[in-house]
Amino acid sequence: LAFSKLTSLLVPWVDFISNHVHKHGNFLSGEDSFSFCAHTKTTTNCSLDRSSLPSRVARRYCNDQNIAVVPQGGNTGLVGGSIPVQDEVVMSLARMQEIVGLDEVSGIFTVQAGCILETANLWLNDRGFMMPYDLGAKGSCTVGGNVATNAGGLQLVRYGSLRSKVVGLEVVLADGTVLDLQSHVRKDNTGYDLKQLFIGSEGSLGVITSVILEVPIKPKVKNVMLLGVETYDAAQQVLAKARREFCGEIVSACEYWDRTCLERVMHVFPTLRDPLTRPCPFYLLIETAGSNADHDYAKLETLMEYAFGEEGDGIGVIDGILAQDEAQGQTLWAIREGIPVALKDGGGCMYKYDISLPIHALDKTVQVRHEWRCG
Ligand SMILES: Cc1cc2nc3c(=O)[nH]c(=O)nc-3n(C[C@H](O)[C@H](O)[C@H](O)COP(=O)(O)OP(=O)(O)OC[C@H]3O[C@@H](n4cnc5c(N)ncnc54)[C@H](O)[C@@H]3O)c2cc1C
Repeated sequence: LAFSKLTSLLVPWVDFISNHVHKHGNFLSGEDSFSFCAHTKTTTNCSLDRSSLPSRVARRYCNDQNIAVVPQGGNTGLVGGSIPVQDEVVMSLARMQEIVGLDEVSGIFTVQAGCILETANLWLNDRGFMMPYDLGAKGSCTVGGNVATNAGGLQLVRYGSLRSKVVGLEVVLADGTVLDLQSHVRKDNTGYDLKQLFIGSEGSLGVITSVILEVPIKPKVKNVMLLGVETYDAAQQVLAKARREFCGEIVSACEYWDRTCLERVMHVFPTLRDPLTRPCPFYLLIETAGSNADHDYAKLETLMEYAFGEEGDGIGVIDGILAQDEAQGQTLWAIREGIPVALKDGGGCMYKYDISLPIHALDKTVQVRHEWRCG
């Protein structure tokens, strides 16, 4: 697509914003307000950063002038979708952070798209609820950005995909039309489900301004276990046992990584140490979330006994630790959450476990890529 060059439009664009703010006032604290930067190959103009416009007005102007627009949430996306590459107007959602409300009976939560994931989660925690997903980038990424990327997150195994939790959306299209897809009903089986088009669309079809989610009750207790295993097969077998026999429905997360990941994390985040006594080729983290601290802990203990006992002999579990308190559990999670950044910043050897593949193909694919990228 051929978009307008902003070099010639920068002055009219800045004039347009100034005139609008002069005529209608600044929308800084109002609903539906965005801040903008004009980005060209040689310059980024954010001189009007303290002003903001209703999104529909700005979208219409950009559309009429054929100016490319890139929506930006927390800018944490790992594939650069929020970063302008040519002459583009960056549309930041940083000022749309309002938490609109929670229906405590149905668990329906309404929030503006620029709200930071962690802020939304803490707000919900105070009311006995939680966000239905969690990411390492939670301190910076936005709920709108999560929906735009259909973020998977760390608790998919328990709570399902984000797509299945979005009940409604408000979206501003390129021509400034506001699409109100804000259902508040968990079971809405009327007509076409248009909001699904915008989930995972990376801003290509419109800017998400408001999100309505179904949120679960916060579990009373969480336990975390880390096992060092010999092979991917061993990790799969232990996980299957955990889900089918020892822990059942309380398994809330499982994560898998290799020794290189752990070494990178320890290099990039020196406060994090190897939690096990022996180096292991692979690691499996299992988290449970339930309502009875003693029962839930006992279930993981039985799993541990199985893994190191006669019955589990030959599976290939080398070492393991069961977190004794919340702080230790968080430290184990910090290793997992540090992996994307550590691999990115840790010396040019970039590969990922955060990919969607059939379980049986995951390890082989990652290892091939690991060898290819890191030698
Ligand atoms: C440490 C770390 C851990 C991560 N872990 C995971 C993980 O476990 N699972 C996973 O799936 N992802 C993960 N990610 C990537 C994750 O998808 C993004 O970080 C997050 O969802 C993007 O949110 P954001 O607000 O930062 O969006 P941005 O990075 O600002 O934008 C991402 C894309 O969405 C578009 N966009 C942003 N906001 C809107 C909006 N309101 N309307 C329309 N389009 C919009 C942008 O144009 C861009 O294309 C991780 C990233 C990091 C840095």
